[in-house]
Amino acid sequence: MVWPCTLGVDAYTAGGRGVEFPRLPCPACAGPLVWWSGYRRWVRWAGGSRRIFVPRLRCGPCQATHALLPAFVLAWRLDAAETIGAAIAQVASGRCGVRPAAERAGVPYTTARGWVRRFRVRAVVLGTAFAALAAELGGEPAVPAADPGRFAVEAVGAAFAAASSLPGWLAAGAWRFASAAVGGRLIAANIISPFLVVGRRRFMPPVPPLPA
Ligand SMILES: [Zn+2]
Repeated sequence: MVWPCTLGVDAYTAGGRGVEFPRLPCPACAGPLVWWSGYRRWVRWAGGSRRIFVPRLRCGPCQATHALLPAFVLAWRLDAAETIGAAIAQVASGRCGVRPAAERAGVPYTTARGWVRRFRVRAVVLGTAFAALAAELGGEPAVPAADPGRFAVEAVGAAFAAASSLPGWLAAGAWRFASAAVGGRLIAANIISPFLVVGRRRFMPPVPPLPA
């Protein structure tokens, strides 16, 4: 699970176990979660590595445990969501190629290329889901562009613009918002999480039509 953390990466890192973590319901059964344990993981941010604390929570009713990730991380990725999202947005919207985006992000070319490729593979699913989310939240629907990557970036932007009127999201920024909505799996190899989650609201993303 991902929560819409608005703390800076360094403030979160310094906070350790003392960060004010939100009380969220179990994503499986909506039961109450209690503190269970936690672990540390690395995040690469602003040219350095930070070791952050991630709480693990346990559900009383269904016994499942869930890691509670801050929205500035993506599942199984070292770099922060903002870094990855900015690089993807630059390339997918046609503003620059992968190499300058990689340089700005401070990562090897192959790393940025991997992000962009993974995003493109998922672009139709992500674009459809975020465009629907934008409409659900009362925003302007994103119009499908000829290029699926560009459409997906615009749909994330439209959904974020719509969510910005809800408490807490504006300060989180577009890519933390996107990470939180898909449970950190923006560019994960497995499919999109079955729900988009915005705060306590859950949305079932539509299934895009199969390519002709
Ligand atoms: Zn549960």
